Amino acid sequence: MRIVLATANRHKLIEVSAMFADSAYTVVGLDEFPEIGDIPEPFDTMEENATHKAQTVFSHTGLPTVADDSGIEIRALDWAPGVISKRWTEAGTDHANNDKLLAELSEKTDRMARYRCAIALVTSNGVLTAEGTCSGTIGTERRGDGGFGYDPLFWPDDYPGRTMAELTLDEKNRISHRARAFAHLPDMVAKLLG
Ligand code: IMP
Repeated sequence: MRIVLATANRHKLIEVSAMFADSAYTVVGLDEFPEIGDIPEPFDTMEENATHKAQTVFSHTGLPTVADDSGIEIRALDWAPGVISKRWTEAGTDHANNDKLLAELSEKTDRMARYRCAIALVTSNGVLTAEGTCSGTIGTERRGDGGFGYDPLFWPDDYPGRTMAELTLDEKNRISHRARAFAHLPDMVAKLLG
């Protein structure tokens, strides 16, 4: 079964395609539907943004569509930046965002953080949502060049001694917020499509 992953983020497509490599699903990205273009993320929660993205793509393609919205939450910053993780700085690049995170935490001893991911599946039979989280701590300098986003600063509790950017794709896919959210997808598909 073809399922559209409503993302233009190449890294997410690689991660999610790997999760379903041995399954009945073929995950296709938005590059197959260039006419759809960028989809805004205007809401205050990841769940609403994911639902909005999946609904937008479903209304264009008529294919079962799953979308995710994700971000990082820092306890010492009252759980910011959360839903605005990508747009936390004006530049909005991983480099600028990581610089800002290091600066904001420079005086803090509490370095606890968690990634959060919400997914929404939209089919002709309705909408279902699910969520996953991954806890860790924020380092004081970048390490590793795998993954994307905040990964070089994020030390996952599940792999002591390495940052998320030092994990292989398989290792990241065992513990990540996105993997934990997408682990619900087969059940969600079964509920909506039988
Ligand atoms: P969005 O889900 O595309 O809106 O992404 C939100 C932002 O959260 C990304 O641009 C990254 O900065 C951050 N983010 C989400 N997931 C990850 C991840 O797996 N690793 C690192 N950063 C992430």
